[in-house]
Amino acid sequence: MTEPKDAAERRAIAPVICYPNDTLPVPDMALYAAALDTARVSETVLAAPRDACAFRVPAGSFFRITSVEGPQVGDLNLWNAHDLSERFYSGKTRALHGTHVTTGERLWSAFPHLRPMATIVEDTLDWYGIDPYGGSVHDVIGTRCDPYTGNLLSGSQYHHCCHSNLTRALSTATGLPLHDAEPHVHDVLNVFMCTGFTRDTGQYFMKASPVRPGDHLTVFAEIDLLGALSACPGGDCSSEHSSDTAACHPLQVDILTPDSAMLGNWQPPQRNGYDRSHGL
Ligand SMILES: [Zn+2]
Repeated sequence: MTEPKDAAERRAIAPVICYPNDTLPVPDMALYAAALDTARVSETVLAAPRDACAFRVPAGSFFRITSVEGPQVGDLNLWNAHDLSERFYSGKTRALHGTHVTTGERLWSAFPHLRPMATIVEDTLDWYGIDPYGGSVHDVIGTRCDPYTGNLLSGSQYHHCCHSNLTRALSTATGLPLHDAEPHVHDVLNVFMCTGFTRDTGQYFMKASPVRPGDHLTVFAEIDLLGALSACPGGDCSSEHSSDTAACHPLQVDILTPDSAMLGNWQPPQRNGYDRSHGL
């Protein structure tokens, strides 16, 4: 179409933030830091390369995802440990905090719950910021690699995409049959993954993760959590995923239990206050 005469003027309009987040409840980061100081590792699980592990984190505890052996990206799912319908909502987390998350930001649950499930308390990659390509780390813009898209694009039957890894891990952790577990798998937090959108075509891109062994992301559980973490078949996601081509490494998950007295009268957040009458 031919541009209207005022095209430049319209493009020059400054953006406004969709969801100004300065009215969100502020996490007490000093309290969480003091509790973390007293925390001891109570359990360690490992997501093997191209596979996933599941883990449970009681409210008021922490979990830490650590890169071990080599650069590796992880796809994280979170559920309320007592109600799988309350699960991580990457889209709303993105709307509230932006495309990538770091220390002080929270992982929100799906409707009708919409409350913080978890709060990031440590991110050793927080120095990365936004690179010249518009890339950054720990995104909530991707979905998860899955066998359906691979089949759509190339007719493949690949069984170790994060979607399948998370499905198997959830099935094992809950006892749900595989096909009953699958619908609970959801869009992920892409831990350590470096991603963005190309400016010219707006396409989702990935690039080699800056993560190195020892880097970690530490998260406070605001409610009792069931988590699953997949060590993505893309490895550091520098070239391709959805295949056995990339070099892959395990990811370690530690559950850290603090001295509960440190949390004082902290309580898990309430579910969202909307009355759910939807106008009727
Ligand atoms: Zn993946």
